[in-house]
Amino acid sequence: MAGVIYPRMAVIGCGLIGSSVIRAAREAGIVGEVAVADASAAHRARIVELGYADQVTGDIAQAVAGADLVVLAVPVLAMGEASQAAAAALKPGATVTDVGSVKGSVAEALSRNLPEIVFAIPGHPIAGTEQSGPDAGFSELFQKRWVILTPQARTDDAYLEAVQKLADFWTAIGANVERMDPGHHDLVLAVTSHLPHLIAYNIVGTAADMEEVTQAEVMKYSAGGFRDFTRIAASDPTMWRDIFVANKDAVLEILGRFTEDLQALSRAIRWGEADKLFELFTRTREIRRGIIAAGQESAEPNFGRDHGKH
Ligand code: NAP
Repeated sequence: MAGVIYPRMAVIGCGLIGSSVIRAAREAGIVGEVAVADASAAHRARIVELGYADQVTGDIAQAVAGADLVVLAVPVLAMGEASQAAAAALKPGATVTDVGSVKGSVAEALSRNLPEIVFAIPGHPIAGTEQSGPDAGFSELFQKRWVILTPQARTDDAYLEAVQKLADFWTAIGANVERMDPGHHDLVLAVTSHLPHLIAYNIVGTAADMEEVTQAEVMKYSAGGFRDFTRIAASDPTMWRDIFVANKDAVLEILGRFTEDLQALSRAIRWGEADKLFELFTRTREIRRGIIAAGQESAEPNFGRDHGKH
């Protein structure tokens, strides 16, 4: 056991990810006191009922006061406002991190809003589900998942130590930690997560709008592939709206590539180029096998739930 790493942790935004961080950190015994600030009165009441925080408030400044670790777990476009609300109340030497799915814009907001006396270390756990809210969290969520930290360009010892301590925190709750440049993170995630979600939202929307196929048929025959898209397309609208707004450039770049490839596929189908289709489907099958071999497949039967990764 790692022992207490942060005597007081404040989590701002206690939904799926925020509540999972608390549950996992408590279970691992790596935090002392836990304070939560959440904008939703209903969520605050539920967190009090669930009893996993020592202090629950609507006031961000109150929650972060005296905290050694502050985890911003609000939607991406709310990170600026949340970090601003925290800034004046932060303890010197505190670490402020986030879990946002986009890193470039969040890293900029943290650099802009937070004082030099704290260590701002943006981060993103590549773990999640399509559920949201404080009831959706669970302590095993981060096990064997990657957490990407995008530290600032600071090279002073105190900052490097703070980064290592945060990496130790994530390791203690079962995650693997990688450091990355924020821009590169956003490009990688545009391919592995953001574009797949966009495709799922689009295909489910297309099916819903089709007049020749009834809604009853769409649901009845969904096992033919559509069902997996509907799970992804059930992801939180606020979270995903924010991701596409905040990661516009990388998503558009990858979408351009995707559209070209789709045109090529469409041409291969039109001209009956069966070999081209077969060659692509063989290559993509290998990628799936590689994901399974790396232990990163989306369904983990041992946890009994779906783990989409955003
Ligand atoms: P969630 O379940 O909806 O939780 C977010 C919580 O923050 C909600 O209780 C929300 O209240 C509250 N909130 C919103 N704006 C706030 C503000 N300005 N101040 C204080 N509280 C605020 O969302 P989540 O899925 O945990 O996602 C949180 C973050 O994690 C996002 O940045 C997302 O990109 C990232 N992330 C998500 C996943 C995933 O799979 N879900 C995976 C990795 C990373 P209301 O409901 O009233 O708005």
